[in-house]
Amino acid sequence: MAFESETLVEDAQVDEAHVEDVSLEDAARALNARLHAASPQSILAEALTAYGGRVALVSSFGAESAVLLHMTAAIDPATPVLFLDTGQLFGQTLDYRKSLAKRLGLSDVRDLRPAYADLATRDPKADLWRSDTETCCQIRKVAPLDLALGEFDAWITGRKRFQSQTRARLPIVEASQGRLKFNPLAAWGKAELDAYAAAHDLPAHPLTAFGYPSVGCWPCTKPVESGQDLRSGRWAGSEKTECGIHTAQSGGAGQDVGGGI
Ligand code: SF4
Repeated sequence: MAFESETLVEDAQVDEAHVEDVSLEDAARALNARLHAASPQSILAEALTAYGGRVALVSSFGAESAVLLHMTAAIDPATPVLFLDTGQLFGQTLDYRKSLAKRLGLSDVRDLRPAYADLATRDPKADLWRSDTETCCQIRKVAPLDLALGEFDAWITGRKRFQSQTRARLPIVEASQGRLKFNPLAAWGKAELDAYAAAHDLPAHPLTAFGYPSVGCWPCTKPVESGQDLRSGRWAGSEKTECGIHTAQSGGAGQDVGGGI
C-alpha cells in the first residue's frame, strides 16, 4: 500500500544524530509539532524508517488492533511485533493472534510470556488477579515487555484518544522509558478505524460481536453497555484503568497515563 503522502514522509524523517544530542523529551516535542496532522501511515513510516530494525510495534491483537497491524505489514511485514501472552488471555485472542498474523504476512510476531520464577513465587495458583492486580500486571505484562524492549530504541502503540478520558490528550510521539514511543492512531476515531477495516476487509476480533470493545485478560475484562466508555470493561468495579506498561510522560504534549495496550 502506498503511503498517503510520500513528501510528508520524506519531510518528517528523524535526524537520528540530532535525536541523540537532545533530550528525548525535546525530540518528542519536535516530532509532535511536525507530525500532529500527519496520517497514521506517515507517522508509522517515520518510525519504521528512522528506527529500522530498532523499533517494535506492541500489539494486544485486541478489538482494534488489526488496523495498525495491517498498516505495519504494508510498510514492512518483518517489523518486530511484541504480543504480551499473559497466560490469562481469552482463547479467542490467542486464535486471533495466529490467524491475523498469518493473514497479514507478519513474519516476526514475538510472544512475550511471564518469567517462570515470577509465576512460581508470586502467582503459583494463577489467581493473583483476585487480590493484587497491580502485581499481577507487573509480572505478566510490565516485566516481560521491559525485558523485550531492551533491544529497541523506539516503540509503536495502537492507543487512541477516543478510547477513554485518560487517553484524551495522548500525543503522537512521547518520550517513555528511555525511548521514543509513537502513537500513529492517536487522532483517529472509531468511524475512521471502521472505515479502514472495511476497506481492507480486516477480520474483527471474535469477542467484539459479544460486547467487548476492548479485550484484555479474561479475569479483568467484561462486556460494555452501549454508550459506556470503551475501556470501562477493563478492571470493571475497581479504580484501576491501566496495566502500567505505559508510564510515559509526554514531551510537553500533556501527560499520558495510558496503559493496557
Ligand atoms: Fe493479571 Fe488482570 Fe493484569 Fe491480566 S489484566 S495481568 S489477569 S491483573
